[in-house]
Amino acid sequence: MQSSKYRFNSNKKKKWPIVVTVIIGSILIIVPVIWIGLHNWNLDKSVAALNLEQQTGDPSPIIPESTDKLDKQTGDENQEVGADPSEKPVTPVAPDKPSEEPKESPKPPVEKPANNMYEPNQTYPKTPTIKNGIVVANKKYPLPIDYNKGEDLIARAAFNQMAAAAKLDGFELVAFSTFRSFERQETLYNQYVEKDGQQAADQYSARPGYSEHQTGLAFDIGEKNFEQHWAAASFGETPAGEWVAQNAHLYGFILRYPLGKEQVTGYMHESWHYRYVGVEPATDMFTHKQTLEEYLDL
Ligand SMILES: [Zn+2]
Repeated sequence: MQSSKYRFNSNKKKKWPIVVTVIIGSILIIVPVIWIGLHNWNLDKSVAALNLEQQTGDPSPIIPESTDKLDKQTGDENQEVGADPSEKPVTPVAPDKPSEEPKESPKPPVEKPANNMYEPNQTYPKTPTIKNGIVVANKKYPLPIDYNKGEDLIARAAFNQMAAAAKLDGFELVAFSTFRSFERQETLYNQYVEKDGQQAADQYSARPGYSEHQTGLAFDIGEKNFEQHWAAASFGETPAGEWVAQNAHLYGFILRYPLGKEQVTGYMHESWHYRYVGVEPATDMFTHKQTLEEYLDL
């Protein structure tokens, strides 16, 4: 009886070292496992972090931060790519096209340079060239320097009518650039020449006196809240841009510089640049796929 009681007590006493060993052993295993786990289960990183900790006394910097940055980067990218198509119903364009296209000054297409139609020693006329009642401004026919009528009221009224019709179809059109004076064009053109050189600038910007914007009849059209497509080729690919291309003539506007007519107009394709000429001429040109140069035989 006594011996069994003694044995029990002695057993209880002998268990303590085992428990202590197990606890210490567990700590020795769990701590490295947690440490490696904190470093994405990467043994090299864990060892590197351990070395760093020994040097600086701060285990947290470098490694956890770098993985965090990576997460943020991919997160931002996904957000941008994901947000765009859900926000605007844009028909698929070449994905890198919009980012390549600068928003303010359009770049000339490399493969199809527009014809340089400027006459070598052209002088500015005293009166504008008017044919079939249509004021002309192109690379052959400049405007007088002091031709400064401002935005044309009839053209503006026609644009407002078109914008109202577009709104019924779900597009809010804006004319982000209309009348430009000789002086304003001079400033713009000189900036483009400085930036891209004269040869390149001549393909997408008019020299002062040669811009259709000086007539007050040219309207650069875009969609409200979609500034990324303003003055960009991508506007033509958007539903709003397609709507304008199909309906502008009903309100007297023509797409002034169409694709494939670079040699005729002297300018690269501009999906946003419309010119008011009146409903009948506009409808004629639209139906026969003619430019103003072809229609007026300039
Ligand atoms: Zn324009």
